Amino acid sequence: QAKDAGRGVVRYFSSELQSEQEDRVRLEADIRAALESRQFHLAFQPLVSAKNQKLVGFEALVRWNHPKRGFVPPNVFIPVAEECGLMGPLGDFIIEEACRAAATWPEPITVALNVSPKQILPSLPTVLSQALARYKLPGNRIELEVTEGVFIDSSSRSLDILGRLRALGVGIALDDFGTGYSSIGYLNKAVFHKLKIDGSFVRDAGTRPGNVAIIKSIVALAKDFRMSVTAEGVETAEDFERMRELGCDTIQGYLFGKPLSYERANQLVTGLGARKLAS
Ligand code: C2E
Ligand code: MG
Ligand code: MG
Ligand code: MG
Repeated sequence: QAKDAGRGVVRYFSSELQSEQEDRVRLEADIRAALESRQFHLAFQPLVSAKNQKLVGFEALVRWNHPKRGFVPPNVFIPVAEECGLMGPLGDFIIEEACRAAATWPEPITVALNVSPKQILPSLPTVLSQALARYKLPGNRIELEVTEGVFIDSSSRSLDILGRLRALGVGIALDDFGTGYSSIGYLNKAVFHKLKIDGSFVRDAGTRPGNVAIIKSIVALAKDFRMSVTAEGVETAEDFERMRELGCDTIQGYLFGKPLSYERANQLVTGLGARKLAS
């Protein structure tokens, strides 16, 4: 009897696994097709100065509108693209589109783009410098956002590549700082120009003193290393005021805008001029 039950359980799990596997295979095929039929595009979320709330740039975030699936969040398809070796072509597309957009905007507007650990390859500096050249874009108008994940394997190689990227003049931000593997030691290598505080620390800082303590220490660390600090996930005026007081330099979040189409982002750049984004 026990043996029968055991067998049943095994079969149950294996069919679950099998359908999960099938879902993945289908998603992988869809990503491949999406790259060919250009179903991906970038959305641009505003970043503002904490000092005067002026627009300083955007974070480019990849978007996928699948004809049947509809909107698929990047948290769902990026990990699959990473695992099945499609992050290279998808990443190249993101670099191309981010540079293309940035080149249409004036100084000091910068465009930040997210770079997966799978893209940290010796060829990346070449790919990026060619894109910069194609759009006659100075390196300092682009920022790369990487997570602590880049240091998981072959960290010295990653540092070397990040150093070569930095030499192109681009900024390199450490994204979701404080949520991953602690890699504070890497700050000594001086490749980062910015720390981004994860929205999870920002959003309930009002009710969790521990979050305020974390944010304070991130800001102090950044200042000591001459890096700037961005607070993500700022949704309310109270969040904004708190992050400004804690010493964050730039602010990003729904209070100032959700990720926008290129056209809407462009309206912000050309239309608002010196006006504040929120008032
Ligand atoms: P991330 O780089 O930390 O991006 C910030 C995420 O927070 C974005 O979600 C953004 O829409 C969201 N967000 C911004 N402000 C607020 C807010 O005030 N409230 C809330 N609730 N959320 C806010 P998104 O676009 O879904 O991206 C999720 C993650 O997927 C990104 O986290 C990044 O890790 C990854 N990702 C997105 N686009 C790309 C890309 O082009 N390349 C790579 N490699 N990864 C990407
Ligand atoms: Mg990011
Ligand atoms: Mg982040
Ligand atoms: Mg994130």
